[in-house]
Amino acid sequence: MQKATKSELQMLREMVWHFGEITLCEFCHRPLLHIPPGMTFGHRRHPPIDTKLTIHHRDRNRDNNQASNRVPAHRSCHIQYHANLRRTSSEPDDESTDVTTDC
Ligand SMILES: [Zn+2]
Repeated sequence: MQKATKSELQMLREMVWHFGEITLCEFCHRPLLHIPPGMTFGHRRHPPIDTKLTIHHRDRNRDNNQASNRVPAHRSCHIQYHANLRRTSSEPDDESTDVTTDC
């Protein structure tokens, strides 16, 4: 891995661990990530993200990428949401194709 790419990955992992602990899933309202005991910050040596995450479009339109329409979620909660939607609704669901091919 190139040095710049590795440095970027280390930065992104630290940011995701940080924001994942203080950001709640749109569906289950639990933190996106649980920080393992002993994890520290400020050194950029973080383990891989151990939970699958995704971005949900509140209006179910993936073409509407305004910040107010994008919310983070656990991938498993997102899949469950769209599965329930398909079961109970006859309306088209833009995101369901992504959900089914993404898991
Ligand atoms: Zn969730």
